Amino acid sequence: MKDKYGRNIEYLRISLTDRCNLRCKYCMPEEGIHDKKTHGEIMTLEEIYEVVEICTELGVKKIRLTGGEPLTRLGVTSLVEKISKLDKVTDISMTTNAVLLKKYAKELKEAGLKRVNISLDTLNEKKYKEITRLGSIKDVFDGLEEAKKVGLLPIKINIVLIDRFNDDEIEDFVELTRNEDIQVRFIELMPIGQTADWARDYFVPNTIVLERIKELEPVEIGDKSSPARYYMLPGGKGKVGLINPISHQFCRNCNRLRLTADGKIKPCLHSDQEIDVLKTIREGGNVKEVMKSSILKKPLKHHLNDGEAIQRSMARIGG
Ligand code: SAM
Ligand code: SF4
Repeated sequence: MKDKYGRNIEYLRISLTDRCNLRCKYCMPEEGIHDKKTHGEIMTLEEIYEVVEICTELGVKKIRLTGGEPLTRLGVTSLVEKISKLDKVTDISMTTNAVLLKKYAKELKEAGLKRVNISLDTLNEKKYKEITRLGSIKDVFDGLEEAKKVGLLPIKINIVLIDRFNDDEIEDFVELTRNEDIQVRFIELMPIGQTADWARDYFVPNTIVLERIKELEPVEIGDKSSPARYYMLPGGKGKVGLINPISHQFCRNCNRLRLTADGKIKPCLHSDQEIDVLKTIREGGNVKEVMKSSILKKPLKHHLNDGEAIQRSMARIGG
């Protein structure tokens, strides 16, 4: 279905849980998110599936599962299996910190998951512990290897670029693309939720990637709705992506809706506008009409440049 501005909405990103097994400094306070939902306030897997099914009737073809950490949600494999059986779904993927991926990669692949985006902000063990407060980088490397082994491809590594923390590792990340068909994508820090001030302090524009590595050449990819602009090393096998929602607006090609774990539709990541679809489900209302009106509420563009920060934390949206 098209929105008011003629954009074809065909991508739904679903946050399966607001809980996480890590505490990345830019995403959550040390003690975890403050506005945690109770079990009963979170959508059941059946309710999520109901929304997905209705969205596919409205033209959604791509689904991404995210979190909090999606692999901490019980029953995630069975949900993947059900969604992947829907005729109209052509792509189902997941964004994960990969800590539990070694354990789940094979069953997810068998259930129909196509690929994973792995969040990894450093290649250094000590720095990984520092930024995630809880994680062990070995688990991520093991998860990444397992994902390759079972064919959850292409693998994309998402790196949040953090001033004075990982800007010295840009070359190392880019180097990963020289001999392997992998995508490394540098994401700019966004001022969101409880960590907004932290994000403002450590923001660095990801154009520094191009300043540092002059040999990177721009490449066109077919997908106009992708928020990333891609580059390659001459002769390299993989790609380097730059995702800069603040300094480079990609709103005019935005084709996505977000569903939060507590059942709110967010027409735009960078707006506090939310539509309560879970309430509609639980009250026996018309879910399809709610989804249609949510699509029509998508704003033309975000207002992050005006210094606004949205209230809901990233862990409760899913990125
Ligand atoms: N836990 C999973 C993970 O980390 O991949 C999925 C959820 S996480 C909220 C999704 C993505 O959002 C991750 O790639 C993470 O790095 C990114 N993210 C979280 N907070 C962010 C922020 N303030 N600015 C930019 N990206 C952020
Ligand atoms: Fe958890 Fe992902 Fe947020 Fe890190 S970025 S705290 S892994 S939800």
